[in-house]
Parts: sequence; structure tokens; C-alpha cells
Amino acid sequence: MSDAPKSHGRLSIRPTLKPRDLMEEPRLVKGAWVAKVITLFPDAFPGTLGLSLTGKALDLGLWRLEAIDLRDFGQGKHRNVDDTPAGGGAGMVLRPDVVDAAFCQARIGTPVDRARWPVVYLSPRGRPFDQATARRFAGAEGLTLLCGRFEGVDQRVLDHHQVEEVSLGDFVLTGGEIAAQAILDATVRLLPGVLGNAASTEEESFSDGLLEHPQYTRPALWEGREIPAVLQSGNHAEIAKWRRAQAEALTRDRRPDLWEKRRG
Ligand code: SAH
Repeated sequence: MSDAPKSHGRLSIRPTLKPRDLMEEPRLVKGAWVAKVITLFPDAFPGTLGLSLTGKALDLGLWRLEAIDLRDFGQGKHRNVDDTPAGGGAGMVLRPDVVDAAFCQARIGTPVDRARWPVVYLSPRGRPFDQATARRFAGAEGLTLLCGRFEGVDQRVLDHHQVEEVSLGDFVLTGGEIAAQAILDATVRLLPGVLGNAASTEEESFSDGLLEHPQYTRPALWEGREIPAVLQSGNHAEIAKWRRAQAEALTRDRRPDLWEKRRG
């Protein structure tokens, strides 16, 4: 018996162990958006960004991810990256010289203008990340992100490199890696070509200062609960009106801060 695959009409077709995509050099779309992430845990990347739409876009070369290992810039035999806090207290602080060396590596080939290429430190002290910031980042040519660990980073290196501090929210994580992935996910999905249906970023939550209306899908009747009749009416004007009213009611109820901002 031969090992040759059974012919399905064309003798030349053979299954291969590797999908075709993995055998080719990653295609890079010219001018593709670039994320450079400085981290002590480069293995955490791409993480969830390698899945689904962001992962597909990465494979297609619509954006590129470069993880820079902070440990490579560590001092001495043990590649130390941190030291005790000046003035005392618990924990360790990332050293300015070590972080500086990583920033210098990251800035190779990037514009100095921070509007064209923001340099960000993920930090609970930063400005809260929001959809407008995601849009601003997506409009840049790329982004450098510094993930902190321990008690944080020596302030001088943040000042020296004109680093913008961005927070994922009012809580404390053990490191910046999850925050970096969240910010990259929100940003990359806004890049042209990443979402199949461009309209979906225009209608979703925050795009017009409102939370999104509730969504439904089949079956029409589930556990005694029906899809609201208007959504099954086929009347597009009525559907739009209903969705708008729902979005407004939800926003007023759950996020009075957003509601006030819209009116103010
Ligand atoms: N001592 C710091 C917290 C350090 S937490 C303070 O009180 O402000 C360790 C690292 O986790 C930080 O350097 C930062 O990079 C990351 N991190 C923690 N919480 C974060 C948040 N809400 N948003 C973004 N990054 C955060």
C-alpha cells in the first residue's frame, strides 16, 4: 500500500502538517501599525491578542507586535532590573538606567513626535483609558508601552522620555501586561481592515457617548422570554428609535457620569 493520499481528482494535492500561513514569512503591510511592548514577561505576548480578529490581523500583517525583554538590559551577572525604594518602604522599583536602555532600543526607527508615536507607561496613576484614547492611539503610527512590575518605575526615566501614564481603571494589578493587552486590543480593532464590518465600530458603546442598546438573537422565544417585537417588525426606523431610547435609558441609569458629559 502506498502512503500517497487518495486522489480527489487532482494528483498534486497533498495534506501538509503545517498550515500554509506558518510556512511563509509573515507578510507585513507597508506602513503597518506597530506596538512595542517593554516587559519582564515577553512570553505573555501576544497572549489573547494572538486570537480571533486581532490575531488574524497580526497574521495578515495589518499590525506588528514587538515584545522587548526588559531583562536583557538588566545589570550584572543576575541582570538586575530593580532596587529598593529611595526613602524606604516595601517592595522594589524598576531602575531608571535599565528602563532607559529599553526605551532607547524601542525608539529606534520611530518618530520623536509623541503625537505620531505615543510612549506610554501603564500605571494606576495614569489618565483612565477610554475609547477616545483608543482612537488617538489607532491614529498614530505605532505605540510603545512600558509594563511595570513591583512598586513601579523610577520617576526620572518617565520624565526624561516624556512618557504618558495611562490607567486601565481604579484598581491595582500586579503588572502592566494585562493592561497593555487590553489597551492594544481596544486600539487594534479600530485599525483599518481589522474588523470585517467597519460599521460595527460606529454603533457600539461609547462611539457617541452612549452605552449600546441590548442585543438579541435566535431563538425568538427562549425560556419564556421573547425578543422585543419591534426588533422583529422589519421597520428600520422604529428599530433605530427603539435602540436609541434603550441606549439613552441605559446610559442615564448606569453611567450618569457619561450622561452628564453628553449634555454638558
Ligand atoms: N505601587 C503602585 C502600583 C504598582 S502595581 C501604585 O500604587 O501606584 C505594578 C505595576 O502594575 C505598575 O507598575 C503598572 O505597570 C501595573 N498596573 C497596576 N495597576 C494598573 C492599572 N490600573 N492600570 C495600568 N497598569 C497597572
